[in-house]
Amino acid sequence: MSNLTLLLGLLNFALCHGLEFRYHNSTEVEEYLKAVHRNYSSLTHLHSIGKSVEGRDLWVLVLGKSPTEHTIGIPEFKYVGNMHGNEVVGRVMLLQLIDHLTQGYLSDPQVTRLLNSTRVHILVSMNPDGFEASTRNCVYSEGRYNKHGVDLNRNFPDAFQSNMDMAREVEVQAVMDWLQTEPFVLSANLHGGAVVASYPYDNSNGGNELQWGSSVSPDDDVFIHLAKTYSFTHKSMHNGNSCYDSKDFKDGITNGYNWYPLKGGMQDYNYIWDQCLEITLELSCCKYPPETDLPGLWEDNKQALLAYMELVHLGVKGQVLDSRGTPVENAIVEVQGRNNLCPFKTDRNGEFYRLLLPGNYTFKVTVPGEEPLTETMSIPYGPDRYSALTHNFITPWRSGSPPTTQPTETCGPILRNTGLSNRGAFFDRPLALLLALLLCILLL
Ligand SMILES: [Zn+2]
Repeated sequence: MSNLTLLLGLLNFALCHGLEFRYHNSTEVEEYLKAVHRNYSSLTHLHSIGKSVEGRDLWVLVLGKSPTEHTIGIPEFKYVGNMHGNEVVGRVMLLQLIDHLTQGYLSDPQVTRLLNSTRVHILVSMNPDGFEASTRNCVYSEGRYNKHGVDLNRNFPDAFQSNMDMAREVEVQAVMDWLQTEPFVLSANLHGGAVVASYPYDNSNGGNELQWGSSVSPDDDVFIHLAKTYSFTHKSMHNGNSCYDSKDFKDGITNGYNWYPLKGGMQDYNYIWDQCLEITLELSCCKYPPETDLPGLWEDNKQALLAYMELVHLGVKGQVLDSRGTPVENAIVEVQGRNNLCPFKTDRNGEFYRLLLPGNYTFKVTVPGEEPLTETMSIPYGPDRYSALTHNFITPWRSGSPPTTQPTETCGPILRNTGLSNRGAFFDRPLALLLALLLCILLL
């Protein structure tokens, strides 16, 4: 029997009897995903979003009723694993999740309702080169970086400290391009080395967003709910200090900046530039635990991974339509009291998704040259019924969609483009300093 036949036989066995709890290498993962797609061809779509430095494909498995394309009203969710190649638990959890979702569809009510109402994208490994270079060690960091020795979670454009001159690694560029192809709403990035759910911001410019050591985003209430849903559905994360050397994380959650400031991280990029709310899940004290720990880790995380996906149905969703009923692309949909650094905009279908906790909210919908539309609405808790509140904004506008603009063109780094930096920028200038000095002398 050839190696390939043996491998295919093992994979078919795995598909019928559950996926084995062990570490699968990149070739095995690829073969497994291809076998899943063959066996569940109408429920799944498999594609590569790019290649790693060493030429390994970055495979994404998409699951849902309409897996190959976006459907209006169906939110897009994603999980990304193994960004740090030596943090391997997330990678295993995502393979087990794929197994659970495919086998549970049409037999398990929770899975069926989820996949009927949500399109789920799973990138099992963002750093396959790092995984292949890793050794089975709890703390040692070999394999953390990509083949160029770059930490991928420091390589995204940063909104608070300009790093636009930094070369983007191919794995990071592949994810950035991927974000442009789908209107992602909610996401999580799976890591290891602690047990905690960390949420934006990871960085700060030292401005108004800093509160008691945390870098607080306009959607802090939503992020805390997202993080707590994971930590309290997880078997032990909510207890806080799970690891012998860890900080005592109250309720098993933390603001990223409060834990440690980080520049160029993926979660800030997703939230600020792609209007996709993302948190970072640290799933194990040991980054590369023994295989015998894997069944227990799956039991710890299984319900939390499912409950977190259901949160994509928080808030309100719908379309902005002009007076002829045509969808308006790039309309700004703002929620009063939430000044997002980059405003949330409608996509190519005129759609918006806005994750919000239950309550009353006032929305302002704008395009250049038209009178803004303002509406107040009461929002229920959507995850209970696997759907956010559906609400279309019917505008009197006749001009249709404004010209398309890329997110990076409309809101660059805060230090460069927004009023938040004015205070700092003023005192950067010698003339301004001189004027301030003169004013002080005059006042004295
Ligand atoms: Zn990590």
